[in-house]
Amino acid sequence: MRNTPIYNFSAGPATLPESVLRTAQSEMFDYNGTGFSVMTMSHRSDAFMSILYHAEQDLRQLLAIPDNYKVLFLQGGASAQFNMSVMNLANGFKRVDSVVTGQWSRIAHEQMGKLSDVEIHLAAHGGERYQFNNLPPVSSWDISPDSAFVHFVINETVHGLQYREVPKLADNMPPLVCDMSSEILSRRINVSDFGMIYAGAQKNIGPSGATIVIIREDLLERCSDRVPDVWNYKSHVQRQGMYNTPSTYPIYISGLVFRWLQSQGGVAQMETINTLKAKTLYDAIDSSGGFYINNVDPAARSKMNVIFTTGNKELDELFAQESTTRGLQLLRGYKSMGGMRASIYNAMPLQGVEALINFMREFQRRYG
Ligand SMILES: *Cc1c(COP(=O)(O)O)cnc(C)c1O
Repeated sequence: MRNTPIYNFSAGPATLPESVLRTAQSEMFDYNGTGFSVMTMSHRSDAFMSILYHAEQDLRQLLAIPDNYKVLFLQGGASAQFNMSVMNLANGFKRVDSVVTGQWSRIAHEQMGKLSDVEIHLAAHGGERYQFNNLPPVSSWDISPDSAFVHFVINETVHGLQYREVPKLADNMPPLVCDMSSEILSRRINVSDFGMIYAGAQKNIGPSGATIVIIREDLLERCSDRVPDVWNYKSHVQRQGMYNTPSTYPIYISGLVFRWLQSQGGVAQMETINTLKAKTLYDAIDSSGGFYINNVDPAARSKMNVIFTTGNKELDELFAQESTTRGLQLLRGYKSMGGMRASIYNAMPLQGVEALINFMREFQRRYG
């Protein structure tokens, strides 16, 4: 056994609360006296139906999801939602508005038009004017009341950008569809400001394999029977999430994470801690006298994914290698970005951020 803790800064699949993994370990061979592992039980068994039910109820409680929203645990990751959203919600419409602010919304924008005749209208492009170092304000989005919906990514995991004020559209505007993969449950939101929220679980919830979809009931009327059931929100809702075998084990772990969040004081408490973690880390970068650089406009800096660089490729590589030997894992930046990225989701304790900062100072003393 190591005596120094390991902190895992992976962007995803990301670190999970240790207590969740310990519970899963203790229940691995016999879940709740059933004699079965959750991995090997029928998804229609009472035990699993109860796991699914409570996972949904706990998520509803944590996010204060109104009754007129349905919750689904699907598969295919956030990437599948780029297309499922269009296949289901743009039926009968000519246009979808799409906001491009970084890597993930760019991919979404490219994919959304496939298998569909609908126009994917570029409503804003954060790369042109803002160099992906800042975010186009919601007031600048070129959107139309006649569009099927407005798609955007609230936290850009690769570029380290986050809409710090949660976007909200005027009442005459189409529903907002939000990719919340890398920040869901990190701060309070008003679910009723959105038509649909989706998130791959592996960033801020659980293991990969479950995708959360929170969808306003009236939007289900747009889903056409011509969309195959497996990609059809309405079919999944009508079969209570059991149209086909759901990702049972990831849902089980997600449910344990929801209970852990409740025990920590819920989303409001997470928001307080996440704000402190991010401030501590950005302050360390900004007070390094230029040794560490983050070029994101402070008003758009992500509290989840903190990117930084020394501006020197070799030094960045040395940082990545040395930090690893010190138990600070997976800090290497996204391949196209270089530099470093510290993902500090809910399950990363403040002590992990403090350990990182201590290492950063020591590294600077040696190489600065
Ligand atoms: C990771 C990520 C994705 C891709 O998720 P998959 O589950 O791998 O499809 C999409 N959007 C955002 C914002 C992400 O962070």
